[in-house]
Amino acid sequence: MINVLFAGHPSRWPIYQKPLQDAFAKAGLDAGLRTEFDPALVDYIVYAPNSPLQDFTPYTRCKAVLNLWAGVEAIVGNQTLTQPLARMVDFGLKQGMTEWVVGHVLRYHLDIDYFLARQSGEWEPKVPPLSRDRKVTVLGLGELGAATAVALAALGFDVIGWSRSAKDVPGVRCLHGDDLDTALTGAEIVVLLLPKTPATEDILNADRLALLAPGAAVLNPGRGALIDDDALLSALNSGRVGHATLDVFRVEPLPDDHPYWAHPNVTVTPHIASETRPETASEVIAENIRRSEAGEGLLYLVDRNLGY
Ligand code: NAP
Repeated sequence: MINVLFAGHPSRWPIYQKPLQDAFAKAGLDAGLRTEFDPALVDYIVYAPNSPLQDFTPYTRCKAVLNLWAGVEAIVGNQTLTQPLARMVDFGLKQGMTEWVVGHVLRYHLDIDYFLARQSGEWEPKVPPLSRDRKVTVLGLGELGAATAVALAALGFDVIGWSRSAKDVPGVRCLHGDDLDTALTGAEIVVLLLPKTPATEDILNADRLALLAPGAAVLNPGRGALIDDDALLSALNSGRVGHATLDVFRVEPLPDDHPYWAHPNVTVTPHIASETRPETASEVIAENIRRSEAGEGLLYLVDRNLGY
């Protein structure tokens, strides 16, 4: 019997219990799944960084910690975590993020807000450009950034992607490393899908915002710390940036008195761009346990040095 501890947030146990058990059965795993175990008997931990479990020291037999979230910044630096850490990559996360980004890009591209705000009787044709004449830059070409960039390119947008290492993504002009400023110059819509690491914090600062096309739109479904908030507010106030749709923030929930809430050119979504879906995520967890038990390498291992 393989002992699997569920150590996501306790409120998530009711929605994960059955999908995980079903996925274990489907994968042919003889696994017992519980929320409490003698730590010395635990083989795998299904985890989320908002779990009460923060000290991994007693889990001496644990072969892997399997994170339910894509982002790992809140756990990757935990010194008690010496076991391999895998993060979540799955169909649901990719599909959800692609839908959120494409929807908000089209909102800007088609200037949907302009038409929503018009009075009846105002007949003033204002034709949007075709997508091929709209420059969209996606920062981060990992699982979510690449899926999103491919979808935008399939719609015809002029897509540039930027990542740490060189990439080849179909339909996307891929830049990397020192080419960040090139990637941002003249961008009309910017999508941030980088992880939060020491190297990415405040990456969208005043100097880089100044490279964007006048009135550009900023979409941040990555992490709040990627943006210098004061610089973005200043760029919004001056009109340098036309609008921002922000899903993630340095402090969540976003405090009631935060200027983003009241700003007419900011749309706040409450960290819903892409939620881990229990059904698809459970299959990934089960597959990783199966692989580990079969002596195959774990999928989606986090690089502790890079922090993602
Ligand atoms: P991923 O597969 O690890 O991809 C990360 C991408 O960022 C990679 O292309 C990586 O470059 C690039 N990158 C990292 N550090 C960089 C640096 N210093 N300079 C340039 N590029 C850098 O991650 P993912 O699964 O796509 O997820 C991305 C992020 O989305 C997560 O970390 C999380 O914060 C966020 N997220 C948000 C939600 C939501 O609901 N809002 C949901 C899920 C995830 P390389 O490819 O060269 O390594």
